[in-house]
Amino acid sequence: MSWITVSWALIATTVLFAFIPQGNEVQIILRQLFSLICFVVLTLVTVVGGLAFSPWSLPFKELGKPRRGILNERFTKKKVEETKFDAIVIGSGMGGLSCAASLSRFGRKVLVLEQHDMAGGGTHTFVVDGKKDFTFDSGLHYTVPQSAELLQLACGTRHKPVEFDKLGVEDGCFDKVVLGDPSQDGFRIKHDQKHLDDLRKQFPDAKDQEELSAFLKISSTINAMIPVWILSKVFPSRVRKIWNKLFLSGVWDKYAKRTGEDVTTSLVSNKKLASLLSGLWMDAGTPPSDASFVMTAALSVGFPKEGGAYPTGGSELMASSLIQAIEVDGGKVLVRARVQEIVVENNCAKGVMMEDGTFIACPLVIGACGYGNLYTKLLPDQVVPSNYVTRNANGERSLPPLLTYSMGWVMANIGIRANPEEVGITCTNAWIQNCSEKNGWDLFKGNTDYFKDPLNADTIPMMVTFPSLKDRACVDGKDNRITCQLLALSSHEWFNKWWDDNGKHATDGEYLKLKQKWQDRMVGALVARFPAIKDKIDFVDLSTPLSIMYFLNKPAGGAIGLDVTPQRFADEVTADLLDMKTPVEGVWLTGEDALLCGQPLAQLSGVLTAWRISGLTGSLRFLFGIFRLAISDLLGL
Ligand SMILES: Cc1cc2nc3c(=O)[nH]c(=O)nc-3n(C[C@H](O)[C@H](O)[C@H](O)COP(=O)(O)OP(=O)(O)OC[C@H]3O[C@@H](n4cnc5c(N)ncnc54)[C@H](O)[C@@H]3O)c2cc1C
Repeated sequence: MSWITVSWALIATTVLFAFIPQGNEVQIILRQLFSLICFVVLTLVTVVGGLAFSPWSLPFKELGKPRRGILNERFTKKKVEETKFDAIVIGSGMGGLSCAASLSRFGRKVLVLEQHDMAGGGTHTFVVDGKKDFTFDSGLHYTVPQSAELLQLACGTRHKPVEFDKLGVEDGCFDKVVLGDPSQDGFRIKHDQKHLDDLRKQFPDAKDQEELSAFLKISSTINAMIPVWILSKVFPSRVRKIWNKLFLSGVWDKYAKRTGEDVTTSLVSNKKLASLLSGLWMDAGTPPSDASFVMTAALSVGFPKEGGAYPTGGSELMASSLIQAIEVDGGKVLVRARVQEIVVENNCAKGVMMEDGTFIACPLVIGACGYGNLYTKLLPDQVVPSNYVTRNANGERSLPPLLTYSMGWVMANIGIRANPEEVGITCTNAWIQNCSEKNGWDLFKGNTDYFKDPLNADTIPMMVTFPSLKDRACVDGKDNRITCQLLALSSHEWFNKWWDDNGKHATDGEYLKLKQKWQDRMVGALVARFPAIKDKIDFVDLSTPLSIMYFLNKPAGGAIGLDVTPQRFADEVTADLLDMKTPVEGVWLTGEDALLCGQPLAQLSGVLTAWRISGLTGSLRFLFGIFRLAISDLLGL
């Protein structure tokens, strides 16, 4: 029996039920009311279900095995002359690829152009100086399990193209917050917020309990409203403003407008408790002194609810599955393909000019390479409205006053030859803080001290993470090979004087000496945490925000694009600047700056941009595709 037959049989039954002349008048009216509600619901379900299985909804795609070299197909003039593309996406991060794959579900031929020699943006992986047995992540250390569904949604496949393993050990701990001394195990953050009970036990004082409850209540409210804010990005500017007035003007506005540090310190007076609650701040890419409280809420409540996850088989599988989906519909993803300029005529996109002088004509161009690149470099000066950039006396463009670039990372990539069990290493991450009894357990003060004079801070705040152990399909650990990455949030200004357009900054002796100092401090903390690895470290490679600037072409080496300041969440002028639809017809912005940082949000940003480009009917078709998936799953089809 088909879906439609079952639904119509149920509808007919409810209608008949309404007309059974039994019971008193009230009972009959109640029954008729009940039947009416059932009729409406069933009819809606039937129509939606019917549409979901009609040709109008987007069908599932079949992806084969990824071909060899799928991530590094080189750009040539000939390759782009062979095909007429319907859309060009600049940048192959999760934002660009998710947008391209979603557009290709409508049968559009999409060309993705990537300046690096490997596709994937922040999800690409790399090896250090020929050490092929050790693979490192560039910009995905963990994500949330929903990355799997977002990938499936963009690829349009019946099943998840990549599985994501939930991180964590037996008790559900996937992150540890270490206050000060790196040799301490730290406070264990657990899946499904199970660590909150531990926190309550650790702070039994009535005042602490009360303040903790108040903090969690407000954080939960703000966290629950994040989807409403995300949805606002789907609407054109005018509708978005009404939406925000209706749904985001009360409690959201009150707290999103304030920084994480401001709200947390006003709610929680116990410094140690406030430090533990803010312990994942580095995940936001912006310190809580500058980041909106929305980020604190998301990281203290939302993230532990979802839990950390990592793609089984490595993060580059995310890009390769999306590229497969793009190629199925005749699209291409080419690397070493740096776009020089977006060509615009009469305020309409005409195509892109490549660095080598090749012009590729196309009326739809999507900038998935960040706001800064799009508005200060790629769009011709005359089409960029004055409030979108700041222009200096020479006419050079930089960000407008409302926006700032985020910080970058100093990252130590370390190869260790040891058995993880023997040296006490697991797949949990540790977040070491510059905060101890000495400074009154004050994480915020510790941050101020660190950012003022990083190498003289008592502790360098950093993340400790082990890619080879997070990836359950990775055999490195079994082979006595462990990859380890240490990440310390840092300003590009600390390194900027060594910047070289050709990436040759690393050869300067002074720069190398500075890097060595960072390395000694960071690796010193790692060895203090895991003393058994002392003689087992094979190599250490240290990169600075200059590498992020060079390899990912991120201005100012910002790890997450633009800072996640209060304006990003509660200011309409800023929301207008970051709107996916740009003031130039046919040019769109997607990725982390058009929504929010982090891989899952960059993925979602790409999908939402494709919806906006596809208009109402396109979005509905997409939605019916989602219903089809849900119904198929429900009925086990
Ligand atoms: C070191 C580091 C660690 C991180 N860790 C995590 C983490 O653990 N979890 C998480 O969720 N997020 C993490 N992030 C953040 C995450 O990587 C980003 O938020 C995400 O990559 C943004 O995706 P995107 O598609 O917007 O941009 P990107 O992934 O940055 O992709 C943009 C692409 O555009 C390309 N490009 C730029 N200019 C041009 C041009 N002119 N022509 C052609 N191509 C161009 C770039 O080369 C790049 O590949 C981390 C970031 C960094 C740097």
